[in-house]
Amino acid sequence: MKPNDNDVMISIIIPVYNEADILTDFLRALDGALAFIGFNHELIFIDDGSTDNSWNLLTDIFHKRTDTTIVSLSRRFGKDTAIFAGLGKAVGDAVVVIDADLQDPPDIIRDLVEKWQSGFDIVITVRKQRQGEHWIRKVAAKFFYKLIQKISDCDLPPDSGDLCLLDRRAVDVVLQFTERTRYFKGLINWIGFRRGIVAYTRQKRHGGKSKWNYMQLTAYAIDAITSYSRLPLRLWTLAGIAAAGIGFCYGVYVFFFTLIFGGRVPGYASMVMLILFLGGIQLISIGVISEYIGHLFMEVKNRPLFVVRETKIPDEKNDPE
Ligand code: UDP
Ligand code: MG
Repeated sequence: MKPNDNDVMISIIIPVYNEADILTDFLRALDGALAFIGFNHELIFIDDGSTDNSWNLLTDIFHKRTDTTIVSLSRRFGKDTAIFAGLGKAVGDAVVVIDADLQDPPDIIRDLVEKWQSGFDIVITVRKQRQGEHWIRKVAAKFFYKLIQKISDCDLPPDSGDLCLLDRRAVDVVLQFTERTRYFKGLINWIGFRRGIVAYTRQKRHGGKSKWNYMQLTAYAIDAITSYSRLPLRLWTLAGIAAAGIGFCYGVYVFFFTLIFGGRVPGYASMVMLILFLGGIQLISIGVISEYIGHLFMEVKNRPLFVVRETKIPDEKNDPE
């Protein structure tokens, strides 16, 4: 059972990177949506190292309101990391993560909250339509979701959005993760719990532009795949096994060929057999070792996930210092 309506607190996390053009419109739309929901709420804006006027605008917003926390990261760490910075600050019974660009209409929050109240611990969204996106991006996205669903153990529905709601239980679990490469969408679909799905039509951006170019999206997709699946590394192991198998067969062939027809160069047969066989074995072992090194490399550095430059939380406003 969820708490009574009067006690319920919803935290809204908004990652912001260079969204000065749209923040005011976004806030207006968000306020409209929150008025309908009627629960207590807090807004947590994470400025992911914006280089435009976003932080100044957020500071204005912070001074005008009592429900807003703003956090500025020391540089651009990426949207997923910004979301984690927000999760650490959120105190709500449920946490909603929403983009600042109005592509995910804030009205949907109401549907998410309703689903949550009906007993789901995690409510994710899937995009019925993606408006205003290039067809190459749509095709690439489709391929990516198919691939990650097939080769990893995180059940990520095709076209799932970042807009989601997590119950406090799920937030606490997500915050326990210490791994370096955090693909938020993958993570919340990995942890399990009762999961509800809300479908919506993704709008065009209302201002500014997408922060992703194709190179960044590709790197993001590779990060996502390699942190949830070891198949890419395993492929090399499989290649090693195949090379060793082929080497062995060819070796057998050379051996009998030489036995029956005689070899012109003494020692040729055994040399070829050894080179091919050992080459294959070496590839297998390098494949296996790199499986582990790939994982260890990222973990062993153990750097902080992000660096905070400044945080402003509502209580500080009453603080004389
Ligand atoms: N964003 C961020 N850091 C980044 C890129 C994006 O905080 O490095 C924010 C951005 O301000 C927006 C949300 O994440 O609120 C989604 O970004 P964008 O609209 O560029 O992504 P898309 O909708 O194109 O996937
Ligand atoms: Mg967007």
